[in-house]
Amino acid sequence: MKLLKDRIVKDGKVRAGNVLKVDSFLNHQMDIELFGEIGKEFKRRFSDREVSKILTIEASGIGIACIAAQYFNVPVVFAKKTQTKNIAGDVYTGKVESFTHGRVYDIIVAKEFLKPEDKILIIDDFLANGSALLGLAKLVKDAGAALVGAGIVIEKGFQEGGEIVRLSGVRVESLAIIDSMNEDTGIVFRD
Ligand code: 5GP
Repeated sequence: MKLLKDRIVKDGKVRAGNVLKVDSFLNHQMDIELFGEIGKEFKRRFSDREVSKILTIEASGIGIACIAAQYFNVPVVFAKKTQTKNIAGDVYTGKVESFTHGRVYDIIVAKEFLKPEDKILIIDDFLANGSALLGLAKLVKDAGAALVGAGIVIEKGFQEGGEIVRLSGVRVESLAIIDSMNEDTGIVFRD
């Protein structure tokens, strides 16, 4: 998606530890016009599939998922991150290792919001090592729902997540795939 790639080049900041900061338009301040184009592009890419619900994870995925949901006309459910050891109640749970914070979180979604008849599209901002996506996919599986695929805004193609998740059979559509990034040489995208 050219508009997105141009924006990443213009406003993205490569930080130590293979972190790309996109706080000025995606992760902190949010460019809603750009989000609209992102939502349309997800809809175009998954136009061949029926989607009944979008699933994302707090916090950064929520804004993107909500705008995208307007093009799919479906509700959004976000998995909550919690560090509580004992999670009780009617919830599906999984574990996610945060790439940016280096911590392991439990993630939860109330069972009432994921049903076996659901056709779930997962949406998230980044795909790095794949922990978030695999954690969300597990919730979908535990619910007995169908996983239509995953829409990712920025995939860091030099990390293993994309390959692992695709090999697990999940259709992943990433709007910008970064093959390499470096403070000096800049950002190189996959075509
Ligand atoms: P994964 O679970 O695939 O390793 O990482 C995905 C999650 O980590 C995303 O939900 C995103 O919030 C965060 N993340 C991973 N890499 C980056 C990055 O380079 N920049 C930012 N801003 N977030 C990232």
